[in-house]
Amino acid sequence: AREEGWGNLVVFDPSMLERAMNLMHIEMDLYRALERDEFFLVYQPIVNITCRRITGFEALVRWNHPDKGTVSPTEFIPISEGTGQIMHIGKWVLMDACQTMARWRETYPEFEDMVVSVNLSARQLSQPGMVEQVAEVLRETALPPQCLRLEVTETMLMGNPEFANMTLARLKELGVKLCIDDFGTGYSSLSYLQAFPIDTLKVDRSFVGKMSREPGNFKIVQAVVALAHSLGLEVVAEGVEEEEQRIMLSELRCESGQGFLFSRPVPGDEVPNLVFAALEA
Ligand code: C2E
Ligand code: CA
Ligand code: CA
Ligand code: CA
Repeated sequence: AREEGWGNLVVFDPSMLERAMNLMHIEMDLYRALERDEFFLVYQPIVNITCRRITGFEALVRWNHPDKGTVSPTEFIPISEGTGQIMHIGKWVLMDACQTMARWRETYPEFEDMVVSVNLSARQLSQPGMVEQVAEVLRETALPPQCLRLEVTETMLMGNPEFANMTLARLKELGVKLCIDDFGTGYSSLSYLQAFPIDTLKVDRSFVGKMSREPGNFKIVQAVVALAHSLGLEVVAEGVEEEEQRIMLSELRCESGQGFLFSRPVPGDEVPNLVFAALEA
């Protein structure tokens, strides 16, 4: 305990130290994680909301930590953003997702029109050479560019909208698809939304999750779908957990959905069977 002002005693909270130590350990362990091949991707289906057909997958990174087991990206992605390690992790994610999708396409005709979505972090998007990196990965994996969708958030774009717009335009020229993730949770400007060369809006799961119970959230989803369509964009609703939500979204003419109702994220080796099972259903 230490003294703060006269008679004002602040008790040191040991859990604070624990948290700080934990962060430090994760940071150190992250340096070795790539070399030791501790990252892997899981894939969550994105489906046509009306017929439930799988149209693609979002690649989500996991860390198989030697002691902690599987660590969530919400824990290590922000840390790796701070240290800059995200550059290496992000490059690995992009390469692995494209390689895997290219392999599935070569092996199974069912994958011909499928799209793999990859999340970009703020630092990755502003990194010089980002566009070249994507071009190189596409060349090396021979994945057709229209089979890759990059997800960025509004907040990432609004920091420096002119630069972001230029980068997105160059990515668009490569032929990849672009998506705004978590739409509705960040700060964004509608005039920029119209100017950015994007194809898809992803409605955040905080709205989708409550749309069947709270009329306010239903109205937000309704408005986002209408806005997207008026700008010529497709809509993916994330966090679809209930059949009721699926029906409401389908009635709103939302194109696609993603969520536990359809499937949890699964390891890559389970993906082909998931696709075959969905086709038989
Ligand atoms: P996100 O991009 O919004 O990804 C969707 C998250 O929602 C995933 O969590 C997914 O498992 C979860 N989810 C999917 N369906 C449902 C559902 O029906 N209900 C609920 N409650 N949750 C659902 P995950 O995999 O833990 O990823 C969390 C976040 O970590 C992602 O949010 C994304 O921002 C970040 N992330 C994941 N992988 C990467 C990556 O490779 N690179 C970067 N930069 N960020 C990543
Ligand atoms: Ca995402
Ligand atoms: Ca999202
Ligand atoms: Ca989210």
